[in-house]
Amino acid sequence: MTARDVSVSYENGAKSAIRNINLDIGEKQVLAMIGPSGCGKSTFLRCLNRMNDTVPGCEVKGEILLDGHNIYAKDQEIVELRSQVGMVFQRPNPFPKSIYDNVAYGPRIHGLVDTKDELDEVIEQSLRRAGLWEEVKTRLDQPATGLSGGQQQRLCIARTIAIAPEVILMDEPCSALDPIATGIIEDLINELKENFSIVIVTHSMSQASRVSDRTAYFHLGDLVEVNETKKVFEDPEHKLTRDYIGGRFG
Ligand code: ADP
Repeated sequence: MTARDVSVSYENGAKSAIRNINLDIGEKQVLAMIGPSGCGKSTFLRCLNRMNDTVPGCEVKGEILLDGHNIYAKDQEIVELRSQVGMVFQRPNPFPKSIYDNVAYGPRIHGLVDTKDELDEVIEQSLRRAGLWEEVKTRLDQPATGLSGGQQQRLCIARTIAIAPEVILMDEPCSALDPIATGIIEDLINELKENFSIVIVTHSMSQASRVSDRTAYFHLGDLVEVNETKKVFEDPEHKLTRDYIGGRFG
């Protein structure tokens, strides 16, 4: 996935949020987006699956290419896009349904399976890959809301991977979790990148350095620097990045 000259404004153009962002999301890599609050990380993340479409007065300019096709082209089907680019939110948001039905939701609405056996298989595989199967296999019919916060977030990841997207977007996926649940999700991100491209917004620099291959530093709506994570943290090119990483602002 590639962003070309992406600019976003809110309030019908009165408020510029991000400007001329050019960024490649590497295949089967983790890209972390860091930067002070309000610098446009979430705005950019939401562009990648056209979540901003639902925000009145929000305007997106530029192109975002997925497999060479501009997702902002007129012929882009939104339902199809959402099956290619999945999203995991800050707070786990399971549906008020059973564990099984949460994971079954995507494959059902996208018509990915024909039989109950196939659906069962997708659900087991998705829960396994999300590292949750052993904890829930005997209670798939129970409400997802009865799980712990960390388990709910892994369920939301299972729900996302059940539709076999190419890219998974994660907006501060651990901000509502304790350190143990956070560690489990970080391990999971490391495993998931074997199969998916992942973009993660995080406020935790240690998390960015642990989970990502590349890091993008945003500042006041501009992409200041993007590079291998080790390089960004150990030898950043820009003073703004160095100051942020050094804790001088943010
Ligand atoms: P970050 O994720 O880095 O904290 P955001 O993308 O949330 O940054 O915000 C970038 C800028 O866009 C901020 O100035 C914020 O106030 C503004 N913004 C975000 N969402 C909206 C909205 N729905 N309406 C108006 N302004 C918004």
